[in-house]
Amino acid sequence: MNAPLPEHLAPGLYIVATPIGNLSDLSPRAASILSRADLIAVEDSRVTAKLLNHIGVKRPMTAYHDHNADRIRPGLIARMGGEAIALVSDAGTPLISDPGFKLVRDARAAGHAVVTIPGPCAAIAALTLAGLPTDRFFFLGFLPPKEKARADAIAEVAAVRATLILYESGPRLAATLTALAEGLGDREAAVAREISKTYEECVTDTLTALAARYGDAPPRGEIVVIVAPPGEAAAPAGADVDATLMEAMTRLPTAKAAGEVAKATGLPRRDLYARAMALRDGT
Ligand code: SAM
Repeated sequence: MNAPLPEHLAPGLYIVATPIGNLSDLSPRAASILSRADLIAVEDSRVTAKLLNHIGVKRPMTAYHDHNADRIRPGLIARMGGEAIALVSDAGTPLISDPGFKLVRDARAAGHAVVTIPGPCAAIAALTLAGLPTDRFFFLGFLPPKEKARADAIAEVAAVRATLILYESGPRLAATLTALAEGLGDREAAVAREISKTYEECVTDTLTALAARYGDAPPRGEIVVIVAPPGEAAAPAGADVDATLMEAMTRLPTAKAAGEVAKATGLPRRDLYARAMALRDGT
């Protein structure tokens, strides 16, 4: 049995994960910490007020977000010496595509206790829904919105042998899925939307099929994209790729042929080069 909680929390920083939709997902321990913190650092006090209201609690709050964090942080660090400061974000786990890492870094540097209260995180929740490999995954957060920067960011991870996890918004979803297909090849993927809310759904298909689906009708709500690791691609079929490679090799050196087919199919150049070498050597 757990020991009863003391009324006052020990001084320090408490990183508290909050629900990503369904308020019932707030853990009893998170509720207990929030109800006893001396101060809660929040992204948006209106959002956190709703959560506190849900558990029947009123606590002092202070804004801690991208625009004021550098100014507010030293004061929070000073207060942690004698008070329990909780950090929450609008939803999910603080620090994950949300403010907080510098607060933790500085709290540690100042010798304060740092405690985490784990809980919901959209990236992990989506990974559990997708039905794609979970043994190795790579979290990309939000990709840059501009086309060139986005393509560069995708190219950087094309060879990573892990399931990829990205956050995205509805209006940008189709363009991102298209860019992912171009940069990674037409891999299997999942779009997880509105997790833990009324209209939760998880749609799985190839990247190009998903891009077509959401290009016609940009979805509402909050979205996580999960992409299979290289080697899990479903299209194009192997025989077609071989034929295309063989034809290209009649005109071009092997590396250039692989490059041309990579551009045409969206498949990773490295894999195509290996396949081209095998075809050339008859292995
Ligand atoms: N710290 C949060 C976490 O632990 O998941 C993420 C914060 S980030 C600013 C917000 C993004 O997370 C959204 O744009 C969306 O991509 C994703 N997200 C948050 N809640 C979600 C939900 N209920 N369903 C799907 N994606 C969600």
